[in-house]
Amino acid sequence: MRSVTTRDDPPRVLAPYVRVGFQDGTLFLGFGSIRRPVHDRELWEPLLRLADHFRAPRTRAEARSFLDGPCGADAHRAEAVMRLLDDGNHLIPAHTYDPADRYSRHALFYELSGADAVQVQLRLARARVTLLGCGGIGGLVAVTLATAGIGELVLVDADHVELSNLTRQFLFTEADIGLPKAEVLARELRRRNRDCRARAVVRRVGNREDLKALPACDLVVVSADSPGLTGTVNAHCARSGTPWLNACYVNEIAVWGPLVVPGVTGCWDCRSLTAGAPEGEPELSGLMAGINARYQAPSNGPVNMLASSLAALDVLRHLGGFGVPASLNRRVGVWSHDLSLDGQDTERDPACPTCSLTGLPVERVR
Ligand SMILES: [Zn+2]
Repeated sequence: MRSVTTRDDPPRVLAPYVRVGFQDGTLFLGFGSIRRPVHDRELWEPLLRLADHFRAPRTRAEARSFLDGPCGADAHRAEAVMRLLDDGNHLIPAHTYDPADRYSRHALFYELSGADAVQVQLRLARARVTLLGCGGIGGLVAVTLATAGIGELVLVDADHVELSNLTRQFLFTEADIGLPKAEVLARELRRRNRDCRARAVVRRVGNREDLKALPACDLVVVSADSPGLTGTVNAHCARSGTPWLNACYVNEIAVWGPLVVPGVTGCWDCRSLTAGAPEGEPELSGLMAGINARYQAPSNGPVNMLASSLAALDVLRHLGGFGVPASLNRRVGVWSHDLSLDGQDTERDPACPTCSLTGLPVERVR
């Protein structure tokens, strides 16, 4: 057998998220994205023996010796079962999982996506995220990012906590009513992860100058409901090359995306994403403006959680470099009553008045 060094052949273990099961005449190795049906009865025993062997750290050379020796598999079966374990993120580096580590369960999630968990965590720790809006969605995105190990969060909101916020803004308590949301949120995030630097900015942000006054960051999350803010942020981020993501709800639909990465994806202005007033119809436009001015969204705790959790996962995917964000080049909506999906394409328009002028190189990602 070819001798190998530890560097070429590091010890690996069977990932703790690998379960095996038998159903309807088939053996299943793993569940979810790593599930592999094994129909060939001849492979079941060597596969289970090899998986059992990998409960302790093993190099590939040790595994081959085991298959050739105590396991007693012939060359064909040995190759087949080794490939089954190798191909689907079933084996992870021996050092990856330390149950006592703060981020140990997240590390398994990153490995499940095929990423190096140590590198993902380092990238998250180096990242700074700005949240425009610290309400139902912004607060839940913030706590998800802070507890996942994002290094710094800039929390921007001019509002104060009100009694009617408490159905969905779960980090605020009755004792916080009247206090600035950004400051209360920063306090709550520090309580949950002392390593996350949470900075409160109690200020209304409405124009480009307001945005330029904020510290530069790696990504902006917009969940404030001020009219026109998404367009302003989009233009600012296109010029500064800053990725950004919108998260909101439209009545009972939880909405997130598009995740705009300047120079890589389309932007908010590449496609018409929201309904507006008819051109050349001032009377109708005036009536519509009057009707819409009294709109109050029926905000609901679970719908806020749905939008914020899916948005936060895409932020972590983008900044951590694991998996593919679901909202790249599309705005996604989940209808909470029947779980159907709505999607709006936001592929880049080469003639877009906003992002075509930035001069950033385009790298197609989807
Ligand atoms: Zn564009």
